[in-house]
Order: sequence, then structure tokens, then C-alpha cells
Amino acid sequence: MIPFERTLRKNLFMPIVDRIKKTDMLSVYRELNRTQWLSRRELEDLQLARLRKLLIHAQENVPYYRRLFADIGFDAGRFTSMDELTRIPILTKQTIRKNFADFQAQNRSQFAPRLGHTSGSTGEPLQFYLDRSSHSYGWTNCWRAFSNEGFQLGESIAILAGSALSPKASPPIRTVYLFLMGHKRLMASPLNDEIIQQFAKILSRKSSPRYMYCCVSAAYQFSRYLLKRNQILPLKAIFTTSESLLPVYRESIQSAFDCPVYDTYGNNESCLFAHECRHQNQDNHHLHYSMESAYLEIADDNDQILREGEIGRFIATNLANYAMPMIRYDTGDLGALSSSECACGSGLKLIGQILGRSREFIVTPDGKRIHWSFFNKFPLFYDFTWISSWFICQESRRHITVHLRPDGIPNPHDVEAIKQKMQEKLGKDLAIDIVVSDKQHITSAGKQKLIESHLSEEDLQ
Ligand SMILES: [Zn+2]
Repeated sequence: MIPFERTLRKNLFMPIVDRIKKTDMLSVYRELNRTQWLSRRELEDLQLARLRKLLIHAQENVPYYRRLFADIGFDAGRFTSMDELTRIPILTKQTIRKNFADFQAQNRSQFAPRLGHTSGSTGEPLQFYLDRSSHSYGWTNCWRAFSNEGFQLGESIAILAGSALSPKASPPIRTVYLFLMGHKRLMASPLNDEIIQQFAKILSRKSSPRYMYCCVSAAYQFSRYLLKRNQILPLKAIFTTSESLLPVYRESIQSAFDCPVYDTYGNNESCLFAHECRHQNQDNHHLHYSMESAYLEIADDNDQILREGEIGRFIATNLANYAMPMIRYDTGDLGALSSSECACGSGLKLIGQILGRSREFIVTPDGKRIHWSFFNKFPLFYDFTWISSWFICQESRRHITVHLRPDGIPNPHDVEAIKQKMQEKLGKDLAIDIVVSDKQHITSAGKQKLIESHLSEEDLQ
């Protein structure tokens, strides 16, 4: 990387992007680099002040909240403590869909809103407006995580992913945007040996990026390709996102690229972003979350708030979105907050566990819900090196099909052993079929699917 190129990008290209996109990424980036070193108490105060301002705005300018607050007797002007927030009901995607127009602030045009949507990879997509401030946090939350590990703003970075991390613009505009931002796109959907070979060649060049931001499954597939050929492609750091970073994935990626792997998590609509720092990515899978742009609560199935360490649904409030406030939004993800302080000195709170989408579970005939993370802790699929990925499809309450994608010669004895072990754990009343095939099970956004359920709402009762 030529220092001149980095300086040019930081001082000229990125301000141009900010102007065109109507964002304030550079000033937000400076702010984030400062606020992460505030104490926990100072960050909590900052969150409270931002939340209070948002609630007052919602009460004055958003029809849905004006009505709701009047109905429940909630006065945003008197809001002084986070505990009072639980008086506002948790917001579901369904409520937003039903009341879409009423969620938009009457003065939204002054916040430069842009329409976005979720990928819908785990259900019906959700449309929402995000404004200038929310868009400014998008990349800057990532930059902060990258720069804590040596990345310098303006430096180029490789982005290995499917459409999930791809800019939504027409091809010529996208090319210019990627150039200005210094993003080297490595399109991972589809991804096969031939394409990986090309990517390996690109990343071997002296002038290529030394950092990579990528979807977990794509990086894992890349790493297996390299390790099988005894190749090492040294990078300075890899940041993963979008999917669960299982220990076996991390180990493989670390070995193939000879660098540390830092996991990140992002929920675009709620401006919630979390990242591992160097003190947390070893034995302790904790992630700092962006307290400046989101407020995170964990709730159980009865919408009761859980304490640190307890696993529940991620309920997040985007503190930056004034065009369409979504207060106490149910992200659909599961995890737990941690009460730990981090040795890095950042006051940003830690998320102790992220289990991914809450619907990613199978149900046994006796009604037990088995979340995908069970298969993570139960190293069944990772005992056998020929298995590159797994995917479980629940066909009915009494029948699942386990799809194993081989990367090597499948051993029928191993398949039988897996079946037996699963039968022991999940009960003999569940019919288990195992299919070994090259078919990749990925979502439309290019993410690896782990669980797909064909059960109806009635089956889940
Ligand atoms: Zn830390």
C-alpha cells in the first residue's frame, strides 16, 4: 500500500463519498475513536442523553409514537432512566409493516432519509428508512474495529462476500464507489475452487490489501482450499461478519491466512454493531458493541428484560435514526450481554454470546427446541475433516435431513457414526436422513444456511 494513495483517499476521495452519499462518515469516525475510550459510566450517560432526545423527537414528530405514548401514559420529556424504557412495548417487524407510514417522522426530509430493507434471508424482508446519521455510522463502526487492529483509514481492504456486503448501486456507480473507498471486491457468490484460485492470485500481489472483511463461510471455504494445498496467504488481520464464527472456522482461517481473526456483528436497521478486540478474540468470544449508535437490551420469550449472562432476544434501539425511529426493535437475533470489563480499556459494553437468528432451531417430536449452536458445541461435524459444511433441514416434526458438503472423500462409516450420535442426542422418534452432496446451501444474500425449517406455526405449538 502506497502511503500517498492512502492519504489521497482519506483526504480527497472519502470526503467526496461523504458529499455524494450525504453522510458524515469522517467526522463520525473521529468521534467514535474518541468515545470508545470513555468510561462505561460516561458511555451510559451518553446513551441515556441520546435516547431521551430520540424519544422526545418521536413523541413530537412520529404519529405512531405520539399515539402509543398517549395510550400508555408515557411522557418522553420526563424520561430520566433506562429502566423506564421497558414501559414501551417491544417492536416487531410485523407492527412496522402494518404501520409503515405512521413510523415515518413528519419532518423526515430534513434528515435525508433513504429507503432500505433487510435481506429477508430468514423471513419476509422489512422495509425501513435510515437517515443521514444512521448511514454515517454504517462503515465507521467497521472502520473503528479495523483501525484498532492496525488498519489505517484510507488503506484498501479486500471484501469477500456475496451480495450481503455489496453496495446497492448500478454497476458503473458501484465501480467508482469501490475505487474511492478502497474496497477490493471479491464476489463470493458463487464460490468454487476456480474462483478461489483467482482470488488467491489477486491477494498474493504486493500491492494487494493486507486486511480482509468477509462472510464467515466464504473465508472458511477459502482457507480450506489453501490449507489443502499447503498454501499460506499471509494477511495482517481478517474481520468476519454475517454468520456465526464457529471455533473450527476461526482456527482454519487463522492458519491459512496466518493472522488473527476478529469477529463482528451488525444489524443495519438498528445501527447495532459489535466487534471483537485483541483482548477478546482468544479464549473469550466477547464483542464490544457500539453504544454511541444503539441501545441494546436482552429479552426473554415473555418480553421480560434479562440480566447480563442470560441468553435472550436482541432488542435494539437505533439512537441515530430520526427519519423513522424504531424503539425497542426485535432484531430476531439471540445472545447475551456480559458484565465484564475489557482489558483493552474501552468502556464499550460487551456482548458475551451471539447465537444468530432466533428461528434457527429444529424441534424434536417431544417438543424440545434445538438451536443450531447445539451442533456447534457438539463437535460432531468437525470430528471428520472431509466435511466442509453442514446444513439441517427440518422436513416435519418427525423428520430431518442433514446435508453434508464434502471437501475430500466421504467415509460411509463416518456418516453412520454421525447418524448414530445424532439419534442418541435427539431421540429415536426423530427420523434422520443424511445426504452427502456438493450442493451449497446458501441464502440469497450469500450466507451459509445452517437450519431451515418447514414447520408451520401450528407445528411449533
Ligand atoms: Zn476490548
